[in-house]
Amino acid sequence: MQNQELLDSIKRSAKQDRFKGQDYYMIDDLLTDEQKIARDAVREFVRGEISPIIEDCYERAIYPRHLIKGLAELGAFGPSLPEKYGCAGTDETTYGLMMQELERGDSGIRSAASVQGSLVMYPIYRFGSEEQRMKYLPKLAAGEFIGCFGLTEPDHGSNPAGMITNIKEDGDHYILNGAKMWITNSPIADVAVVWAKDEEGVIRGLIVDMDTPGVSAPEIHGKLSLRASITGELVFEDARIPKANLLPNVKGLKGPLSCLTKARYGIAWGALGAAMDCYESALRYSLEREQFGKPIAGFQLTQKKLAEMITEITKAQLLLWRLGGLMDAGKATPAQVSMAKRNNVAMALDIAREARQIHGGMGITNEYPCMRHMMNLETVLTYEGTHDIHLLITGMDVTGLNAFK
Ligand SMILES: Cc1cc2nc3c(=O)[nH]c(=O)nc-3n(C[C@H](O)[C@H](O)[C@H](O)COP(=O)(O)OP(=O)(O)OC[C@H]3O[C@@H](n4cnc5c(N)ncnc54)[C@H](O)[C@@H]3O)c2cc1C
Repeated sequence: MQNQELLDSIKRSAKQDRFKGQDYYMIDDLLTDEQKIARDAVREFVRGEISPIIEDCYERAIYPRHLIKGLAELGAFGPSLPEKYGCAGTDETTYGLMMQELERGDSGIRSAASVQGSLVMYPIYRFGSEEQRMKYLPKLAAGEFIGCFGLTEPDHGSNPAGMITNIKEDGDHYILNGAKMWITNSPIADVAVVWAKDEEGVIRGLIVDMDTPGVSAPEIHGKLSLRASITGELVFEDARIPKANLLPNVKGLKGPLSCLTKARYGIAWGALGAAMDCYESALRYSLEREQFGKPIAGFQLTQKKLAEMITEITKAQLLLWRLGGLMDAGKATPAQVSMAKRNNVAMALDIAREARQIHGGMGITNEYPCMRHMMNLETVLTYEGTHDIHLLITGMDVTGLNAFK
């Protein structure tokens, strides 16, 4: 639905967004002016454009596609890529802060920006030819094109190396066959970055124009999480892809995995945003809600919850600030990013659940954001490497032993 009348009526009836953000350890002092300006611009966008409509979009499982133009104007698509391609050329902390604010609005909206920037634009930039970059990146940055990323298959999720989607050479084309599952934005995408095995069994990346005959993207319905995001399949039936659309500069699983490292970094920041929103809502509610003659914030058990929440949020902020620096210095390892993704998403999910409890019965309604964040975070815990897979990555990193199989 892109029904402007409906959106306007939702906006009119919307509650006020009172989010301020938390900074218990004065981490703002460590940020540059540019970083703070970018964060605050996204915060304003969320306040003005996302908060007023998100509960309704979530309830009705509507992807608010009209936001794409505004997100592009904010520079939310591939912010850290060079200006030459229509991007902002920011540092990695700025990118992270933008994802934090977007997910404070909703994980589904942050997912759309993550996929576009980290999983579609980044591989085209990093592994594509200059011609491919110039053809696709400016349009993706401007939101004129919507992109999606096809790695997961119906029978190969945590183990993408087992993929069966494949390409066979045919003159100046490849013939692409196979299916991808759980693909964010595929039903509305103009272009897909698809990972498939060549005739030698080597994983290659292709840029697939979605109007290619033999390519379809049926929508997946019935999601109880990430409902303000659109998810689908990708089905390839003898689709003829020009050889010029092969990403020339990468072979093997390291191609998709390096995109995932970039996206997981953004997720680690995003999850923090969701946690901050839940904490702040719980703190405010607990100060306003009275039981037994006093605000529930005055009870020790409520304070235990709130104190632990702000402690975990502060630890996550410090971890991300350092990780951002490592990313900029080109020193961050994929295992460090895994640790941050796993820690922060689990932390956010715990906070969403505790915050929901503090809101009592009201916590299960869409008057407050905690339940929506909680439901969303169930997806975030699973996608881009599940909670347990990231644990195995850390385990392998510290022991040198592979416990995957
Ligand atoms: C809403 C949504 C959007 C998504 N968007 C995208 C997208 O845009 N593009 C894309 O390519 N994918 C996308 N995904 C897919 C996502 O990345 C996968 O769901 C995820 O990688 C897990 O794969 P799976 O669902 O097949 O679970 P499985 O791999 O089947 O895992 C099931 C369970 O088994 C556990 N497990 C698996 N292997 C091991 C092991 N070796 N040791 C211990 N435990 C193990 C897992 O931790 C998990 O708990 C999306 C998923 C969702 C839900």
